[in-house]
Amino acid sequence: MQGYKVENIDCFYFQYNHCTNSQCNFQHRASCKDSSETCLDWFRHRKCRNNKCSRKHLSHEVMVAYFLCKAEKTRNQCTQLNCPMYHEKARQFIEYGIVPPNSVPMVPTVKRKKMVDLVQHENPRLQNFVKSGYQFLNKVRSFFVNAVKKGKLTQDRGGAYFKEILHTVLFFGGINDPIIEPNLFFGEREEFEQLSAKYPDVFQKYNTHLPTRPPYTVLLNAVVEIMGTRNTDGILECLLDLSEQMVLEPTNAESSKCGNVFVSTVINYCYFLNLHVTNEKTDDYFGASVSCKGRQQAEIMIDILCCQTWHNAISLAVCVGNWYKNQTLWFPPDVHSIAHKIVYKRRSPSEPGITSNNQDEHTVAGSGGGQKTSGLENSTTLRQHACLAPRQPCERCITMFPDIIYHPSPEYHEHPYWEYGNCAECESLSQLLYGNPQIAMRLGVFVQSTSLQSQTEQILLPEGLIYRKLSRLTENLRSVGFNVGDELLFYDPSYIDSTALERYQH
Ligand SMILES: [Zn+2]
Ligand SMILES: [Zn+2]
Ligand SMILES: [Zn+2]
Ligand SMILES: [Zn+2]
Repeated sequence: MQGYKVENIDCFYFQYNHCTNSQCNFQHRASCKDSSETCLDWFRHRKCRNNKCSRKHLSHEVMVAYFLCKAEKTRNQCTQLNCPMYHEKARQFIEYGIVPPNSVPMVPTVKRKKMVDLVQHENPRLQNFVKSGYQFLNKVRSFFVNAVKKGKLTQDRGGAYFKEILHTVLFFGGINDPIIEPNLFFGEREEFEQLSAKYPDVFQKYNTHLPTRPPYTVLLNAVVEIMGTRNTDGILECLLDLSEQMVLEPTNAESSKCGNVFVSTVINYCYFLNLHVTNEKTDDYFGASVSCKGRQQAEIMIDILCCQTWHNAISLAVCVGNWYKNQTLWFPPDVHSIAHKIVYKRRSPSEPGITSNNQDEHTVAGSGGGQKTSGLENSTTLRQHACLAPRQPCERCITMFPDIIYHPSPEYHEHPYWEYGNCAECESLSQLLYGNPQIAMRLGVFVQSTSLQSQTEQILLPEGLIYRKLSRLTENLRSVGFNVGDELLFYDPSYIDSTALERYQH
C-alpha cells in the first residue's frame, strides 16, 4: 500500500455521496463520478496527472486502507444504516433487510503490446529481465540434470522442479509490459522447440494458470531435497554456488548485486528447539525472499503465497501485519531464525575463475560485432564471488513474529520499504509449521483492536482477510493483462507428461 499520494486519491464520500469535510485532503473530482472503472495509470503507476481523467482513483485496497468503516474494522459490524463509510461486508438490518457491500470500481483488463524483437529493444530493463530468465533456466536445468545423473534426484522430481521454474519464468514474461514471449528466453530456436514439445503443458498454461511460489524458492526446495535436510552448510554452499553462476554483468566493478531478477537476496532458515520438554531440535527449514522484479509482480507473488501456498498461520500474520500493524503469532519456545544476505564480491585476480574466463573478455569487447549468441549468453568476465552476510530481521518480521529468537538479534529497527510477506522468514516458518504440526498446535494468536478478537483453538484465517488478498490479486492480474477467468487456476508441475531430461543424459 505504498506510493499512493492522498491528494491523488479520490474522496470516497465525494464520489458516492457528498463530503462534509471542508478541509478534505482527498481529491474532489466530478469528472469521474459516473465511472465504475479504476483509472489504470493511477492503479499501475500510483499516480495520474491527467486533469480530465474520467476514471476513479480508487481501488479495493485503497478503499480498505482509507475509507473502511471503523465499526466494521474493529467490531466486525456496523449498525448504522446511513453510515457514509466504505463497507466491505453485507449488513443486515431487521427493518430493512440485507444491505449489500459498497460497490468497488473495477480495474479494466489490459491488452498489452507484444515485444517483437529483443535485439532491437534497447531498453536495459527488458534486456536484463530476459537475460535473467535465460540464465536462471540454463543453470537450474544443468543442475537438475547433474543431480539426476548422480542419482540424487529422481527423473520425475527433477522434471517437476524444472517445469515449475520454467512455468514461473514464462508467467512473469507473460505479465510483463511489453509481453515477453516464451521463445525470447531461449538462445536457439531449436532449444525452444524441443522444450515446448517436451513440456507442452508449461507452454499452454503459463498464461492461464498461476505459479504457486517464486522460482528461487523452487530451486531452494530442490537443493534441500538433494543435499538432505540435516546438511545446512552443504545447502548454503550449494545455493551460493548457483547464485554466483547466475550473476549478470555487474554495472560497475564494485557492484555487490547479483543483477539477476530471479535470484533472491536473502536466505533464511529456522528450527525449533524443544527446550522445556525433550531438548530435541527439529530439522532446519529454509526460505528465500520473494524474487520478483517490480512492485506489482511482487504483490502478485505475495498474494498468491498467502492465498494458496503458505501455512494458514503465516498468511494470517501477513494479513494482520498488513492491515492492522499488529503483533500476531506467538511461537512456543524456542524458535530460532537465522538470516543471511547474499553478497557478491569481485574475485581478486589470484583467485581461480578469472583466468579461465579471460577469453570471454575479448568477446565482450567485441560484442557489437555480430555475435551469434543472440546477446543472451552470460558475458560476465569478472566472475563475482558470492558469500553470506548476517542479516537482521526487519521491523515487519518482528511485528508478525515477536517471540522468535533471531540471529543476528535486531539492534535497530530499519524501516522497510517492502511489503509484509516479502521476507525469507515467512517461507521458512511456513515450512517449519507444515513439517511439524505439533508446533502449529501450540501457536498463540494475539491480535488487538481488530475484528479478530475471538480466540479459537485452531488458527483460522478469516475469510474477510483472504478476500482482500484475493481482490488485490485479481485487480493486479487484470491490470497486467493476465486472463482472469471465473476462478483462479494454479499450475501443478507434478503431472509428468514426458522425459525432458533425457537428452542431457547421453
Ligand atoms: Zn472529501
Ligand atoms: Zn486517472
Ligand atoms: Zn459503517
Ligand atoms: Zn522481514
